[in-house]
Amino acid sequence: MATAKLTIDLAALVRNWQALDAKTNCETAAVVKADGYGLGAARVARTLAGAGVRKFFVAATEEGAEVRQALGPGPEINIFSGHMSGDTDMINDLQLTPMVNSIDQMLRHVESLPGRPFGVQLDSGMNRLGMEPAEWAALREIAEQQAPTLIMSHLSCADDPENPMNAQQLAAFIEMTEGLEAPRSLAATGGILLGKDYHFDLTRPGVGLYGGTPFEEAEPVAHVSIPVIQCRDVEPGETVGYSNTWTAKRPSRVATIAAGYADGLPRIMGENISVYHGSTACPVIGRISMDMIGVDVTDLGEDPRELDILTEDQTVDVLADAAGTIGYEILTSLGGRYDRRYTS
Ligand SMILES: *Cc1c(COP(=O)(O)O)cnc(C)c1O
Repeated sequence: MATAKLTIDLAALVRNWQALDAKTNCETAAVVKADGYGLGAARVARTLAGAGVRKFFVAATEEGAEVRQALGPGPEINIFSGHMSGDTDMINDLQLTPMVNSIDQMLRHVESLPGRPFGVQLDSGMNRLGMEPAEWAALREIAEQQAPTLIMSHLSCADDPENPMNAQQLAAFIEMTEGLEAPRSLAATGGILLGKDYHFDLTRPGVGLYGGTPFEEAEPVAHVSIPVIQCRDVEPGETVGYSNTWTAKRPSRVATIAAGYADGLPRIMGENISVYHGSTACPVIGRISMDMIGVDVTDLGEDPRELDILTEDQTVDVLADAAGTIGYEILTSLGGRYDRRYTS
């Protein structure tokens, strides 16, 4: 088989959720947007529900529909993008909870689905989604009468504890929500780690569940092994791969493995990373192709059957550093070609 194997460790996922939950005295939800950060929203959500998670968040209503199908009735499924035009039937039929982020969305919701649950998203400074302080001041009383399920906002710099933006947003959020009955939520993974002032009634971790920075104690959840398609001897002076970027300096043994940038392994990582045979590092050589990567296996002394690119040590954040990006982007780019296995 010439497809790479993506193994998703559901037991590690649950332990990561438990470890984040243990850091607060409030309820801990789970963010499963973007297909569970690329790892499969249905499996991830079912597993976490089995571990006691009662509240989930997704970006779009369509994602909420998939999660509802996986979970059945009961758990709360919240939609960050709120109540968009065209979503009313789905929100109603599947009992989804939009986080309304503007006056228009709020009117759409209370007019089309009066009495149905919704939350409110406030902008505390990120200027991405949510009502501005003035907008909220005008609407607050009416919103309160409808008993929103949640009042939430999002931090823009929570991965950087030193950043003064955190305290600034905290103060803005408190000012906008002081005296409200509704439960409040400000923290994602980074916010949980900022301490109890940021926890309020509910936290919404995403990336930490899946083993990513800024939750440094997280256990890796995604592991990738790539089959070797072919091995060959290469003489000194011969080149490997597109554009001849690697030239053998010694008699070399080169393995070609079956994954590439189409599998979310960024071409720009190039020779900044290794792949692993057990604990032995084998350097990536030459350009990463769409479906293949060249590897120097000379020092292994054998032709391996497969090589690992995502491991306990070479995590999504290590690949992200090599690619000039973040672990979130590595996870959500892995794509559909993997042979996916779930272990629990
Ligand atoms: C994505 C997202 C989260 C989860 O963030 P992580 O950094 O992955 O923990 C929480 N809240 C909102 C509004 C988000 O968009």
